[in-house]
Amino acid sequence: MTDRYAVIGNPVAHSKSPWIHAEFARSTRQDIEYLRIEAPHDAFARTVGEFRSASGRGANVTLPFKEAAYRYCDEVSPAGRLAGAVNTLAFAPTGTRGDNTDGSGLLRDLTANLGFSIRGRAILVLGAGGAARGLLGPLAGAGAAQIVIANRTVAKAQELAQRLSAPSVEACGFDALAGRDFELVINATSAGMGDDAPPIPKSVFRKGALAYELVYGRDTLFLALARSCGAATADGTGMLVEQAADSFFLWRGIRPDTAPVIAALRAT
Ligand code: NAP
Repeated sequence: MTDRYAVIGNPVAHSKSPWIHAEFARSTRQDIEYLRIEAPHDAFARTVGEFRSASGRGANVTLPFKEAAYRYCDEVSPAGRLAGAVNTLAFAPTGTRGDNTDGSGLLRDLTANLGFSIRGRAILVLGAGGAARGLLGPLAGAGAAQIVIANRTVAKAQELAQRLSAPSVEACGFDALAGRDFELVINATSAGMGDDAPPIPKSVFRKGALAYELVYGRDTLFLALARSCGAATADGTGMLVEQAADSFFLWRGIRPDTAPVIAALRAT
């Protein structure tokens, strides 16, 4: 019988996950079906329960349910616990295991695809929402020398920095970035979705810096600013595919080749 998976979110119509997982299944010869499920805002747990009853084996979880998914799990990976949010659920008769592959996906895109090593680097993370929560633990674990979290709502950045409790991590607002510079600047805000950008000074991009935009498939104001400062740039397409590949591996025990999928998405 074909194993069933799904992406659960609201909205979810835009999600590229069904296409990505169909490509993975084709290239690895796995017999799976991958659905798109829009859960009502107040009924995440009920929606997951119904999918499990309909032979669901696992699910990806996207906005706004990553924290609700964390609470739903019987067991959570260290990455998911650190984030307090999960994007991957695996169902077993004994219960549900949750994981967060956003951070591992970003790390793989940075290191394997873009050739950017994290160890010893000064990193600025813009944003303190669900995505930023998943990235910080893996970045700290990969040996970043310094991580600054800057957010519009400073209290959220401070809460996140406290959660990590690493001496190399600090929190601030955008106005405190004047006079500081970084080797990697990650835009983990959703500002680019609305043709906006976090108000950061041009000086944050150290000479030779890489600017990474989590929003994928569009040239955002953040990317334009970074280019105007001479920084190298990357959008979130690689992370999107790599986090999906990590989920696929957790479910199927096989890691698909991501390069052709990233290339195909970039070509559309
Ligand atoms: P979220 O939980 O809603 O958090 C949004 C963050 O953006 C918050 O820090 C918010 O600040 C900030 N923000 C929103 N509008 C802003 C503006 N105009 N100026 C400055 N800051 C602003 O969203 P999320 O789950 O973290 O997702 C963030 C982005 O990452 C989304 O665009 C999402 O599509 C993308 N993403 C991409 C991937 C990938 O694989 N490429 C994976 C996950 C997420 P406040 O706290 O002050 O509200």
